[in-house]
Amino acid sequence: MPLPTPEGYRVMDEAGLRDLLAGVPEVAGQLGGDSAGWTIREVGDGNLNLVFIIEGPDGGICVKQALPYVRLVGEGWPLDLNRAFFEYRASVIQAEHCQGLVPQILHYDPKLFLIVMELLSPHIIMRRGMTEAVDYPNFVAQITDYLARSHYFTSDLALPAAKKKAMIAEFCPNTDLCKITEDLIFTHPYMVHDLNRWTSPQLDRWAEAWRNDDQLKLAISQLKQDFLSRAEALLHGDMHTGSIMVTRAETRVIDPEFAFVGPIGFDVGKLIGNLLLNYFCHDGHENRPGERDGYRAWVIETIQGVWHGFATKFVELWDGHRTGDAYPSDLLPDGSPALRQAQAAYMARLWNDTLRFAGASLTRRTLGLAHNADLERIEDPDRRAACEKRVLELSRDLLVNPGSYATIEQVTARAEALRARDGA
Ligand code: ADP
Ligand code: MG
Repeated sequence: MPLPTPEGYRVMDEAGLRDLLAGVPEVAGQLGGDSAGWTIREVGDGNLNLVFIIEGPDGGICVKQALPYVRLVGEGWPLDLNRAFFEYRASVIQAEHCQGLVPQILHYDPKLFLIVMELLSPHIIMRRGMTEAVDYPNFVAQITDYLARSHYFTSDLALPAAKKKAMIAEFCPNTDLCKITEDLIFTHPYMVHDLNRWTSPQLDRWAEAWRNDDQLKLAISQLKQDFLSRAEALLHGDMHTGSIMVTRAETRVIDPEFAFVGPIGFDVGKLIGNLLLNYFCHDGHENRPGERDGYRAWVIETIQGVWHGFATKFVELWDGHRTGDAYPSDLLPDGSPALRQAQAAYMARLWNDTLRFAGASLTRRTLGLAHNADLERIEDPDRRAACEKRVLELSRDLLVNPGSYATIEQVTARAEALRARDGA
């Protein structure tokens, strides 16, 4: 039995898409020529949606359509079509603040739950490049602009309370996608669950230890509560290197379908966690030990740069755009020691959140449902498990002892020490 869908919804095929796009003048104009000559390919490699690339004589576009179920699993796991609307709305808001760092939206079809956007070409998914040890010299500068600006301008520091609350209300119904995060990141990896998987039998004892670790289960549960309840800013919601498309010159953030108003550290921490995970994967890929030392050094520098760049730019935006209702200048005048103190406290809390969310993302990619190509592509399970044990050890420490890391350099030093200890 097909899943029930709203009136007017149909899953797009090539012919349907051709007719639809021919009827949208801005889009047809961008492709050029006669619609019969356009080439249409389905390229979705993601877990959830259909993605098409359409090319005409004058240019190309990308179309993304939500399916009423999780593509990876099938019709047995229904999923709200409205995620396309949240992705569309988040994309429009982010484009206002982060021009040039997100694909431009060209059209949204509310009945088909379908987004038409700028085609990113020759950009590739960053995770793919990073698994093959490609460096991206402009990444830190560009992604920290995205992180600082998208979060600052949608926080209470920049928005008047009524606007902020309207934004919370708009994204609040994205509950299906939030629930995926709540289950897959903050719950399943710490219990027995059918959806969990890991490199077995090598990590069987580790998975069991995770399920029996009360300190860890307390830490992840406190973090889940922060995720559920702290409406700080509009989040991307799935901020990892699989949601970033790059060339060596350009960075673009795609796929904000998990967008909702939540704790800023979730986006920043998830990205840092995924970069740390990439740091550990190269021991499983290099042909001789040390071959990728230079690349590892770039990854470490990138992790440090992401935190420092984000934190510096966020506070600069705060100094320059005090347009929100939080921390009013009547109480904390520009440049005053009191304002500096407020900013330091805010950033210290954000740092602590970032560490814990980074830690959570490391465990879920090792013991939970969705793993990363960085580690999955290591064919020899013993080599993969050796890397994954270091990932898990760092994960636990970030979750349980975030207070022992005062700086990002201490985090990267710990990652380096874990490899050195194992003689990697
Ligand atoms: P899902 O939400 O289903 O995971 P994504 O938004 O991540 O879908 O897109 C799936 C894939 O489609 C990406 O990994 C990328 O290869 C390709 N893609 C997505 N958006 C674009 C775009 N604007 N231009 C070119 N390719 C894109
Ligand atoms: Mg997605």
